[in-house]
Amino acid sequence: MWFFELSNLSALLLLVAILSCLLTIFYCGQLNYQRVERPEFENKHVLVITSHPDDECMFFSPTILNLQRFSTVHLLCLSTGNYYGQGDTRKKELMSSCAILGITSSYVTVIDHRFLPDDPNADWDPKLIGRIITDHINNKIQVVVTFDSYGVSGHKNHIAVFKAVKRLMNEEIFEDLKVYVLKSTGILRKYISLLDLPFSVYSRYFFLSSPNDIILGQSAMFAHRSQLLWFRKLYILFSRFMLINTLEKLS
Ligand SMILES: [Zn+2]
Repeated sequence: MWFFELSNLSALLLLVAILSCLLTIFYCGQLNYQRVERPEFENKHVLVITSHPDDECMFFSPTILNLQRFSTVHLLCLSTGNYYGQGDTRKKELMSSCAILGITSSYVTVIDHRFLPDDPNADWDPKLIGRIITDHINNKIQVVVTFDSYGVSGHKNHIAVFKAVKRLMNEEIFEDLKVYVLKSTGILRKYISLLDLPFSVYSRYFFLSSPNDIILGQSAMFAHRSQLLWFRKLYILFSRFMLINTLEKLS
């Protein structure tokens, strides 16, 4: 009997090893594929719009780190993350995180507005956000990347940014501006890390972190020291958003 159980265990280990090898080969293949040109973003100034310090690495690091290879990334963060009265600390943490992600400090803007509090119950006014974004988008910015209608985590402040950007698009204020949104996933896909690769790879706008990018993304996350509660450490380990981003063009 023990021999039978041992052979079952061996077969299982062999299967896991084979699947791991296949996933690794698939991952390396996709990394090579990503080195091919990305004309939508190449040599462009790209503005990433987030709601809170840490959104840039928790959700957008695969996009930002890939874009850094062939375009110039700017960040507009619409609050200081002052929910627990740590706004000043979090602002400094954001600057450290951006330095790790390679975003030039002069291209990072953090808004501290009393009507845009870091609060999951606060309704941010899309018109106010729209005005701030409009003021911020200068002649340089050609592409905007932000949250989609669910905002990855369903946070109201994330969704408010999407609504404001969508409103600007509908009003056709920026004729040549291209907008891409970060596609949210269901909860299962959100926490299966690299195993989400086969489900994401067919997206047209797909960004995958290299091993070095993964280290940078995690280091950026660790720069947000005030936020490193146990569940965020688990998030760093298991979230596919630390490795994989898929975007969708907003029209
Ligand atoms: Zn957030």
